[in-house]
Amino acid sequence: MGKLLFWIVVIFGILILTRMLTHYTAQRQAKREQTRAPQAKPLAKAEEMVSCAHCHIFLPQSEAIKQGELFFCSQAHAQAGAVEKRG
Ligand SMILES: [Zn+2]
Repeated sequence: MGKLLFWIVVIFGILILTRMLTHYTAQRQAKREQTRAPQAKPLAKAEEMVSCAHCHIFLPQSEAIKQGELFFCSQAHAQAGAVEKRG
């Protein structure tokens, strides 16, 4: 019976030690990330979205084809839009 109690104490000791170690490591990691956070670059500003004048799909302005004041999702829609405008 004494032996069993000994092992229970040992196992609990190991469990508590592991838990303390995990907690300590996590705390250290969090602290490190907290100090690093202000130096981290701010997220890139969200790109402006424009709507295709032909199919009305939204896409980033950098990927859109601009014709005058209108934006198009593809060359085909740009041409179709131009045709629509004319006709
Ligand atoms: Zn389109």
